[in-house]
Amino acid sequence: MVKELVFGHRNPDTDAIGTAIAYSYLQNQLGYDTEAVALGKPSDETKFALDRFGFQAPRVIETAANEVTAVMLVDHNEPQQSVSDLDKVKVTHVVDHHRIMNFNTVEPLWYRAEPVGCTSTIVWQLFNENKVEIPQKLAGLMLSAIISDTLLLKSPTTTDYDRHAVASLAKLANVDVQTYGLSLLKAGTNIADKSESELIDLDAKSFKLNGHQVRIAQINTVDLDEAMARQQQFVAEMEKVCQSEHYDLFLCVITNILDSNSMGIVVGQNDVQALFEKAFGKVTNHTISLPGVVSRKKQIVPPLTKAFEA
Ligand code: MN
Ligand code: MN
Repeated sequence: MVKELVFGHRNPDTDAIGTAIAYSYLQNQLGYDTEAVALGKPSDETKFALDRFGFQAPRVIETAANEVTAVMLVDHNEPQQSVSDLDKVKVTHVVDHHRIMNFNTVEPLWYRAEPVGCTSTIVWQLFNENKVEIPQKLAGLMLSAIISDTLLLKSPTTTDYDRHAVASLAKLANVDVQTYGLSLLKAGTNIADKSESELIDLDAKSFKLNGHQVRIAQINTVDLDEAMARQQQFVAEMEKVCQSEHYDLFLCVITNILDSNSMGIVVGQNDVQALFEKAFGKVTNHTISLPGVVSRKKQIVPPLTKAFEA
């Protein structure tokens, strides 16, 4: 077997890194020769999960074609969220739970997409379908990915499949979901020691919406007031990034993981901001309240896409 790399999206979260490790393990059990790598360093939250279950952070790559001819993608498919030279390698497998956009291949491939809360939930099903046992530590890592993506099963992206996977993986990993889950999520909320420019890039994704370049970042917190006290500095940094990276709109969603409410900070060209307002309402002094909004893929990108295309 020719070696393949397995990786999640840029600015990786716990799903992108944890599920790459899990899917690579499964594929190796099934006879492939794969290595899980990452398109960035793990966040504090992901580090917490890796440490807790005894995993090293995967090697970070910038390009793939210099070392392999084929790759497997998890937790993403949009090329602008992937490795920079994706067009120079063959994608043989995708496991994902996002919309499918701008993704094309020359040859047929294994593609598994399900509208569930986390890619690890799909990989959990793949382990079961292939009758491969999940090692205890790996179960803990996959559980961490689901807790992270679903905000402890509270996000509207959560399905019964995720709930089943969590129950089963928690039993395998021998952890209490609520206790461990809250400590995992809280590990990702320490914003005091990070600069605004770091924070707006930690969990940020780029989208092409009807020809417009849109950047959407999300920051988790347990104290919205603490985060919003830095609003002016966030706006200044976001404006800088819009200039240098040519984004037409930059939205930073700051989410209180304890009560599932968010505040949005918006920066962009006036005409593009007007499209944003069509979807979410008036932006005042660069900010907007987004009660109950916690999911970028389900509650932000779809209404925004609709507003941009209308
Ligand atoms: Mn992800
Ligand atoms: Mn995910």
